[in-house]
Amino acid sequence: EASKQMATIRAIEGRSVHQIQSGQVIVDLNSVVKELVENSLDAGATSIDVRFKNQGLDSVEVQDNGKGISPEDYETVALKHHTSKLASYDDLTTLDTFGFRGEALSSLCALSKFHILTARSEDGAVGKRLDFDISGKLKSTTVAAAQKGTTVSVDEIFYNLPVRRKELEKNSKREYVKVLSLLHAYACISVGVRFSVSNQMPKGKKIAVFSTKSNTTTKENIVNIYGAKTLLALSRLDLSLDMAPGDGLGTQSARNCSTQVTDRSPGIRIEGHISRPVFGDGRQAPDRQMFFVNSRPCLLPQVSKAINEVYKSFNTSQSPFIFANLIMDTNSYDVNVSPDKRTIMLHDQTALLESLKTALTKMFDQTDHTVPQSTL
Ligand code: ADP
Ligand code: MG
Repeated sequence: EASKQMATIRAIEGRSVHQIQSGQVIVDLNSVVKELVENSLDAGATSIDVRFKNQGLDSVEVQDNGKGISPEDYETVALKHHTSKLASYDDLTTLDTFGFRGEALSSLCALSKFHILTARSEDGAVGKRLDFDISGKLKSTTVAAAQKGTTVSVDEIFYNLPVRRKELEKNSKREYVKVLSLLHAYACISVGVRFSVSNQMPKGKKIAVFSTKSNTTTKENIVNIYGAKTLLALSRLDLSLDMAPGDGLGTQSARNCSTQVTDRSPGIRIEGHISRPVFGDGRQAPDRQMFFVNSRPCLLPQVSKAINEVYKSFNTSQSPFIFANLIMDTNSYDVNVSPDKRTIMLHDQTALLESLKTALTKMFDQTDHTVPQSTL
């Protein structure tokens, strides 16, 4: 027994595992804001306030008027892989919420100074402040004044990951700009939700960054965010892509779903707004390009490239403003590719891109090539 050597492979201690994994869910300021805003939208909020302190370095706070958290859920709300949204893998294709992994809040507990304030309509103006330990276990609940809804506070993000904290501080401005364009996308697409974003620099005053109203159109949201001048430059995007059963999409989704009629092609529509190829002051606008799949903001680098390419063949001097929502069958893409769900795997992307380019070229060919005076 004494001659037995110490084993070199050991299980990583639980707390360290949690910290390692959390760092992959919450990678930057963008993921903090994205997870919190999506939770508010999932809670049915019609009003969302995002408050930054020091551009998010000191604090990010997201307040909503959604349904709140019920006392029975206080214990589990920030535990890893605890979610009210998904019970099994099979639910994934029919899911209509943003979240489903139950990882965001538990990760934030591991990476920031974190607490929640929440109240439901039946609680009146009496809410609870919830504090958690680093693993997401409920530490204490205290009575606090609160309006109906939930406020999640994330202070000093990455305070315990010195390398990442330093990196964030160094790139703070750029990170903040990225966060704002992410918020633009959520605010533009969420026509039933009032968004309000503010920032307060140390020793400075609280500054309103942008806001939208509820019960609007995407057009009105664009005006609120980018100004009325942008709208004069835009054409409506409304493309129906022919995805014949033979080119993959129809057959594949029919195969996945045995009850579906075999010759039915789900087709794809692209709705939104895009710069007229003839209009503009020559400004480049790659930061004003937003992509969605069934209204979920996401990164679609190949779709973006295809649209920009077609646009460039009509106007070589500027980049377009793009707001493009791909409406498609939930069986024809996969959002479960990366923890942040920003990367979406589209089925039969090659056929989709070809069809998109053809339709967009046709649209620009028919576009009125005079500068519009007014589109309102
Ligand atoms: P997920 O969104 O994948 O379920 P999260 O860790 O983001 O995982 O959230 C865990 C749970 O906490 C959610 O399923 C939801 O029930 C609850 N929750 C989080 N944020 C809010 C909120 N703003 N309002 C109401 N409930 C919330
Ligand atoms: Mg979530």
